[in-house]
Amino acid sequence: MKKVVVLGAGVVGLTTALKIQQTGLYDVQIIAGLFPSDPKNIKYCSQWAGARFVSTEKIGSEQAEIDWATFQEMWKMSEPGGIAEECFLRMTQRHYFTEKLPSYSPLQRMPGFREIPRAELPTGVKATHGVEFQTFTIEPARYLPWLAKKFQQAGGAMVRKHVQHIDEVTKLGPHAVIVCLGLGARFLGGVEDKSVFPSRGQNVILRAPWIRDGSSFIDPHSNPRLGTDVVPRKSGEVLIGGTQEEPKPRPETTREMLRRSLALCPQLVPPDKRSRNPPDVKDILPIVVEEACGHRPVREGGPRIELDSRKATPVIYNYGHGGDGYIKSIGSANIVLKLLASV
Ligand SMILES: Cc1cc2nc3c(=O)[nH]c(=O)nc-3n(C[C@H](O)[C@H](O)[C@H](O)COP(=O)(O)OP(=O)(O)OC[C@H]3O[C@@H](n4cnc5c(N)ncnc54)[C@H](O)[C@@H]3O)c2cc1C
Repeated sequence: MKKVVVLGAGVVGLTTALKIQQTGLYDVQIIAGLFPSDPKNIKYCSQWAGARFVSTEKIGSEQAEIDWATFQEMWKMSEPGGIAEECFLRMTQRHYFTEKLPSYSPLQRMPGFREIPRAELPTGVKATHGVEFQTFTIEPARYLPWLAKKFQQAGGAMVRKHVQHIDEVTKLGPHAVIVCLGLGARFLGGVEDKSVFPSRGQNVILRAPWIRDGSSFIDPHSNPRLGTDVVPRKSGEVLIGGTQEEPKPRPETTREMLRRSLALCPQLVPPDKRSRNPPDVKDILPIVVEEACGHRPVREGGPRIELDSRKATPVIYNYGHGGDGYIKSIGSANIVLKLLASV
């Protein structure tokens, strides 16, 4: 069998490696500095994600098709009795806006899509429009180890190594090298893609197992533009997200995020503590599990999914997925498969 090396063990590297392995044509090895079993690390974005499936790409674009391919596979994986059911929470998602949803929005093809009548809009935020649909969230602490285990059980090898230069790997003579390093693509010798940069996202994790629906509101009048996201997970954790720039968790940002999330979703207050109207941030501080910051691997011009055949060993890139690495993981891996088949 032809040997293929995948660099990186985030959601993109693990998914890409598994897909290549599943063709039965290649002997796949993953080389990475960090793996799912490691404690949370700022250099490993996949551990910090929400992560939910809400695509914002324009219908008809290549990126929208990548997202849709991922959705269709993950929707099956997440069904009752599905192969990875425990990693996903299927849920109703409500998205609130101050403008009508554009006609090119991919949300319209989600199952159960409907426009929310004005009378049903939440009172705590200044939304004038809303839509509802079925989707799922992915629990990183379950899904990443699930991918790694599946890969290893099928005979895949995982090697822990920080690679300084891509030639360290190409000189081993594999059939191809697949670069799935997220932000690491900026620093790896021989790649050094300076258009990749971190977008820092702060989040707060609550233990609120009574919340089973997701909600989001983007306030166009705030500066910087702030989103408020309530992202429930299968385990009963609820991630409050929506910032794009804080370098490390700040208490005042946490309080502000919690204030906005309460306005959007007052049900975050534990059922036995709902005496105050309106609810106060104090009511939910006791259920805070964690405050955290992750660095999304954004790339100017969008993700890089392409073949570089200038070297003696073909190199295929799959990185720069920004805030959408989970959404794009399966669809982008499918493109890598086609590129690999061409070399
Ligand atoms: C707060 C937050 C919320 C998010 N929410 C969502 C969401 O709802 N939906 C969604 O789809 N996405 C979401 N994301 C984005 C998503 O997490 C990322 O797009 C995704 O994790 C990127 O995965 P990756 O595999 O490309 O990179 P990473 O997960 O960063 O993995 C990089 C891998 O490369 C390895 N590596 C790097 N450099 C080297 C080197 N030189 N040598 C060896 N190994 C190296 C690392 O050790 C690691 O194994 C969110 C992100 C954040 C921070």
